[in-house]
Amino acid sequence: MPKKIPMRQCLGCREMKPKKELIRVVRSPEGEVSLDFKGKLPGRGAYVCPNPACLSKARKAKALERAFSAPLPDPVWEALEQQMKEVPQDAQ
Ligand SMILES: [Zn+2]
Repeated sequence: MPKKIPMRQCLGCREMKPKKELIRVVRSPEGEVSLDFKGKLPGRGAYVCPNPACLSKARKAKALERAFSAPLPDPVWEALEQQMKEVPQDAQ
């Protein structure tokens, strides 16, 4: 049997993908939302493909708001989009 790969759903395209191919978005206990490239930050997590199109779909669908049960102001989305452009290569 192959090793079981943990799968997560992208909030943008709604596809199930291996967790390590997705970017974790985390909402810290303080309510701060950011991308978690190492998957180690504390807080509630959601997942999105490393693809700006998926991030904008998630934004339109308010998928992150639902995942976190919290409003996400525009500057937060803009910060996430910016962070996605700057994905560190060594985080993969
Ligand atoms: Zn996706």
